[in-house]
Order: sequence, then structure tokens, then C-alpha cells
Amino acid sequence: MYAFELRSRHAFDTFAERLGVVMGKVDALVDLTGDRLVLQVPKEAVNQVAAGITSVLFREWLYDNLIRRARKSHEHVSRDELEYLSLVYLHEIRTEQTPLGDKTLEQWEEAVREEIASLVRAGTTLSIDGFTRFRLREPVSVLFDRFADRLRRFELDREYEESVAMLRFMLDEQPSIMQEVHVFCGRDRVWLTDEHGQLVRDEQIVQAAIESETDEIDSEDLAMSILITRSPCRIVLHDLHPDASWPSFVETVRRVFAERARMCERCDACERLRGSQPPMGSLEEDFDFPSIDWT
Ligand SMILES: [Zn+2]
Repeated sequence: MYAFELRSRHAFDTFAERLGVVMGKVDALVDLTGDRLVLQVPKEAVNQVAAGITSVLFREWLYDNLIRRARKSHEHVSRDELEYLSLVYLHEIRTEQTPLGDKTLEQWEEAVREEIASLVRAGTTLSIDGFTRFRLREPVSVLFDRFADRLRRFELDREYEESVAMLRFMLDEQPSIMQEVHVFCGRDRVWLTDEHGQLVRDEQIVQAAIESETDEIDSEDLAMSILITRSPCRIVLHDLHPDASWPSFVETVRRVFAERARMCERCDACERLRGSQPPMGSLEEDFDFPSIDWT
């Protein structure tokens, strides 16, 4: 028989339940006030006890801590969203066998199970918080950092959805004052032409942008303002930079204008423009935009 003590500030009830009630074979003294569990473990139950502790550590404890940390840094993500996102994330880490440092989660679990079994045999006190801080620092920090990245992405996605919804709302208020607009999305800038290939500009919008406080005039913002105010019945998108990072202007126009927007089908203008796109510059300058000859 080994006398063994376990302490944990997190998921303590689950440790107590798993070891004291479910396993039966172990005499357990549960001190709830001190988050302390004193066990009398018969020799033949050591591996089972170690497996029980490890299982709770790599599931409930990990889950609790993931949520606790994320709540501090991501106040705009609700508790329900966090719970859902962490469950999905932990499931993926497990099923896809993602390496966390030099081992997968399963391999870490295997190593920890053996280590805990030897701690039980040594009759020591196991502080889960201290143990994870020193022995599992690497996988736990990799796991938490990647989850933080995922939450940032989740927040960006949501901001994007909100801005698309706002643009759609503004569009609903606008009467159509143009039939067709062609949108050229290059690597450095975006510009618009009418169905005859003539550059579409809007002095008022450009002037408003110049007068606004923002340091940089963004050709995508200007193009979107013009598209919303003119509210064309048809938009043809010419994507000269298909590798643009998310969310690309092409994608946003498609989302906002829905069935009114379509992609060009490899038109001559695109073919010619791919090698010679207008350079970067501020919008008040006159650009030598390549003329578009649709014929
Ligand atoms: Zn085209």
C-alpha cells in the first residue's frame, strides 16, 4: 500500500471523482477545502490510479485551463463560444496528432502516465499545478499559444462578417445609378471602369478621403465607397492578384453585392494587364491607367 497525495487548483472535483468513486479500489480521503486528495493505493492499483490522474489532467484539467487563460485575453468571445472552440480545438489536436514540441499529445500523455505511476510508488505529494508548470511547460505553452491564434482569427472573422453586413445594409439604402462597373483588383491597387473602359472616379469621395484624418488613402476603401454610392446593377470582377491574402477585395465585393457581382472569364483586358499593372501612388495623382479596349 502506498500513501499518496494529490493537489490541484483546477478540475479538482473531477480528480476526486475519478479516483475516489469510480475506481473503488482506492481508499481516498478528500479534503475539499484544501483541494487535497489523500489516497491509500494498493500495489496492484498503481497503474490504474496513474492512468486515472493522467486522463483527467489531459482532458478536464487542460480544458479548464485553456478556457481560463483565454477568458483573460479575449473578453469579446463569450463563454459559450469559448467552450465550443476549445472542445473543437482539443479534439483536432488529438485526432490530427499535431506535434506539441517533440511529442504528440498522446505521447506526452503516455510519458506522464509512467512518471505519475513512479510518483505514486514513491509516496510523494503530486501538485498538478507545479507538475504541469515544470514537466509540461513546452506542450502546454504551444497548445495555449496556438489556441490564442485561433481565437484572434475567430475575432477577425467576426469583425469581417460585421463589416460585410454593414456594407450590405448601406447598399440597400442606395438607388442604382450605374448599369455596369468593372472592378480591377491588382496587386497594389484597385480601380474601376465603366462598360466602355473609362475610369470611374468620384471627386467628392476622393476629396472626403483626403480631408479625413487617416494617414493613408486606401484604394480599396475608395473603390468600395464608389461602388456603394453608385450601386451598379452589374459588377464584373477582374482578379489580377488571385493570391491576395484574406479577405481579398474580390471576396468582399462578392459578399456585399452577391448576385450582382460576377467574375470575368479570362477577358483580353486581364490578359494584357497581368504584366503591366498601374503602380502604387496616392490617388490625387493622375495615373496612366491602361486603356481598356473591350472590342
Ligand atoms: Zn477580366
